[in-house]
Amino acid sequence: MLYHSTRSVDTKVDSAQAVLSGLAPDGGLYVPQQLPTIDVAACLQEDTMSMAARIIGAMLPDIENMDDLVRKAYTGKFQTEELTPTVDTGKFTVLELFRGPTSAFKDVALCMLPQLLTKAKTQKGMAEDILILTATSGDTGKAALAGFQDVAGVKICVFYPDGGVSKVQRAQMVTQEGSNVAVCAVKGNFDDAQTGVKNIFAAAENGCLPGGNCSRLSTANSINIGRLAPQITYYFKAYADLLKRGRITMGDKVNFCVPTGNFGDILAGWLAKKLGLPVGKLVCASNANNILTEFIRTGTYDRRRPLHKTISPSMDILVSSNLERLLFFMSGGDTALVAQLMGKLNREGVYTVPEEMKDAISQEFWAGFCDDAQASKTIEKVFKEQNYLCDTHTATGWAVAESYVAETGDHRPMVVLSTASPYKFPAAVLTALEGEQTLDEFAMMDRLQEKTGVPIPQNLSGLQEKKERHTGVIEKDKMLEFVMNL
Ligand SMILES: *Cc1c(COP(=O)(O)O)cnc(C)c1O
Repeated sequence: MLYHSTRSVDTKVDSAQAVLSGLAPDGGLYVPQQLPTIDVAACLQEDTMSMAARIIGAMLPDIENMDDLVRKAYTGKFQTEELTPTVDTGKFTVLELFRGPTSAFKDVALCMLPQLLTKAKTQKGMAEDILILTATSGDTGKAALAGFQDVAGVKICVFYPDGGVSKVQRAQMVTQEGSNVAVCAVKGNFDDAQTGVKNIFAAAENGCLPGGNCSRLSTANSINIGRLAPQITYYFKAYADLLKRGRITMGDKVNFCVPTGNFGDILAGWLAKKLGLPVGKLVCASNANNILTEFIRTGTYDRRRPLHKTISPSMDILVSSNLERLLFFMSGGDTALVAQLMGKLNREGVYTVPEEMKDAISQEFWAGFCDDAQASKTIEKVFKEQNYLCDTHTATGWAVAESYVAETGDHRPMVVLSTASPYKFPAAVLTALEGEQTLDEFAMMDRLQEKTGVPIPQNLSGLQEKKERHTGVIEKDKMLEFVMNL
């Protein structure tokens, strides 16, 4: 199956090459020339790993031994064999995506990506090492480090903003073990770290670092189709769960509400629908950074605004990269139009899509947002009324799902995607339940466990005692130098 850029059809590559390259040469994102078909009914009968092999295999058919790769990626790494369990709360169904090795939903994709990448590398006969560079606002960094730890032929370097991540998130990263990993704080904010990474890519010659050190540069963020494909599976898994419990019968439509940042997670839901899963509305939930709400409602994407720091930091984002893929699909594959819109976004910081495209998008998606105060109230309310403890991102999704039902009267079953463990954001979660806190973040974890009876995930509980291995802090203009000295 061939992939090409969202911005032109000139260069076509197979799916293995698309995973290896990450980004298309013209700066666009890889999209399949034609979406595959799968046997949905058969898929829904399977266990999660077989489901994953079938779906990822359909999306990336040129990567061999998918069944094997899936089992290597996931076996023993998640709290449960079903990987992503669902919980019926009495109101919405919560799809728990945070039961993986770092308690973030990104584990689902970042456990799989190293398998896909190294297989593609072998198949293509690439001899050089791959160097993964990632700037993170918290969650991606740790999930990527854990995924790539001690993977042969791959090195990984993560940059995070000094003082810009939670104490728990910092501890997760700086204690990372492995012979092929590096982590460094950058004096600046997330954008500075991200720009620094982009500058390193720009300084590269033929995809390699300057100075003869030929490691092929790549990235672990969700522009890579190898990260998107594994996320389709859990939509099928959630649907299968509802079927098993008799909540729906085959063919009934189910709505999904997705706490959204880079638009990767929700786009995977749309792809699940295109593969034949009976999905109703995809509800896009944002925090105070409500640029996507505005876009889905008006057709205008306008990034000319300040970025707000919120209690759901993984969604604090102004440019949602994967939206470019949606524009491609929703324009019927009009690469010239996508190139033009992305050019406008770069130059002017704003674009408006044609009216028919806006209408096509609102057929499939509904959007809303919720501020910190409302998210905080939602954590408290859901715990009180449903006896379910959720994190700040999930609370955002829950609140927006409620607005959706209230405004549309659509009472089809609603699945709210839960993207992080509440223990990754103990300060905000405990404050929501008990008011202003003076405890240290680690003490808050214990307090939260005591109060709610929800156990602290194992990977987070021993963090405070673990040895700090990566304590470097550098100026933002020293990032290239840091990487060249690895
Ligand atoms: C990354 C992340 C999101 C946003 O997912 P996208 O695929 O970027 O839209 C939401 N919640 C949490 C906790 C995350 O880590």
